[in-house]
Amino acid sequence: MKVTVLVGGVGGARFLLGARERFGSTPFPARESAPASGAGPHSVTAVVNVGDDAWMHGVRICPDLDTCMYTLGGGIDTERSWGRADETWHAKEELAAYGADPDWFGLGDRDLATHLIRTRMLASGYPLSDVTAALCNRWQPGVRLLPASDTRHETHVVIADDEAGTNKRAVHFEEWWVRYRADVPTFGFAQVGSGPEGVGKAEAGPGVLDAITTADVVFIAPSNPVVSVGAILSVGGIRAALRTTDAKVVGISPVIGGAPLRGMADRCLEVIGLPTTAAAVGEYYGARSANGVLDGWLVAEEDAGVAVEGLPVAAVPLLMTSPKHTAAMIDAGLALVGLA
Ligand code: GDP
Ligand code: CA
Repeated sequence: MKVTVLVGGVGGARFLLGARERFGSTPFPARESAPASGAGPHSVTAVVNVGDDAWMHGVRICPDLDTCMYTLGGGIDTERSWGRADETWHAKEELAAYGADPDWFGLGDRDLATHLIRTRMLASGYPLSDVTAALCNRWQPGVRLLPASDTRHETHVVIADDEAGTNKRAVHFEEWWVRYRADVPTFGFAQVGSGPEGVGKAEAGPGVLDAITTADVVFIAPSNPVVSVGAILSVGGIRAALRTTDAKVVGISPVIGGAPLRGMADRCLEVIGLPTTAAAVGEYYGARSANGVLDGWLVAEEDAGVAVEGLPVAAVPLLMTSPKHTAAMIDAGLALVGLA
């Protein structure tokens, strides 16, 4: 079975641990010297959000790609769920001692090595997809990690620039999320592209559209619906590929009983005018039969009875407490669309 998953950071990475448990490891990067050996009958490709990517202190940081890579490669700090295990913060302290901005971003010493390599490769002309494959050479995530786009597709946030909110300014999503804890008057999100003035829509990265159109099943992980999944869906070609693929598309709710599990997805939903409910997120993605992208919607047992127009909905345990539990969730998703 060919499986493709749209993912953000923490929720996405946990879902991928379950997908690897359920479908086995997919060699990545593929080794030409040893093609199919060790590969099982299934393959898993993750299309990873790049909306959170940012330049900080002259290095390119890709939070969601790194969270997926470190989680699957066994290098994640499991307490924090982001960054490297056994991390130290000397570089961050030294930068702060120089008064260097931004001082609010957690840049660990071990993590910094990843960003240095990425930045050097990007400066040499390698696209982000090649850089990601090179980094994964070390981490061996066991799933194919593809950036949703190789070009800039950053999420920026329009916030109030004064008490009254008469003047507005845009900040990078990371600044809104980490520095302001999403706790400032906020008017909306905008994707900033690589053209002049940030205009110009990013196109899907190499292999991304193919992974969606040739899959047997596509999962939309229980990731932040607005700034992770929404940012992926707004990359040129991806929504169209989901609407036209022969694959079944199954979404999993990141909202359980009216609240996100961790993080502040409720703030993002509020900004775009939606309530934090499994029904609202399901409607936001929509049924393919009604111009949306889903063929099935999995909600938590707490949300049994939730209905989304045009979609089969199943209520199952949605806590990703272990890869085995997540694999069971995946089986429920397959059953919902008649694939198991
Ligand atoms: P981020 O980029 O690190 O914010 O991570 P994602 O966008 O991939 O995922 C964040 C979302 O994951 C949050 O909205 C959470 O509600 C959701 N989430 C985290 N853990 C779980 C879980 O165990 N089950 C479900 N259903 N959702 C989860
Ligand atoms: Ca993220």
